[in-house]
Amino acid sequence: MDLKRAREDDYERCIICQDDKHEKLLNASEQGLTTLKESASMRHKLRERDVKYRLTIERIATMQDDIAPVWHKSCYSSFK
Ligand SMILES: [Zn+2]
Repeated sequence: MDLKRAREDDYERCIICQDDKHEKLLNASEQGLTTLKESASMRHKLRERDVKYRLTIERIATMQDDIAPVWHKSCYSSFK
């Protein structure tokens, strides 16, 4: 089974939580996206037992370059 296909990432939703929250979604700036990717790859290397963000890290790591993600400001602040 292809896990990557089975997992439905919705890029219209917050890239970090994929939840509907009553919070405005922000478009990723180039700078913000770079920070997010660096943070994800650092967490990935550290192999933290980071259950809360495991899927987020996977999602960011496998994200296509042409995707312009959105996120909640609060999610971004706690993840980066
Ligand atoms: Zn969020």
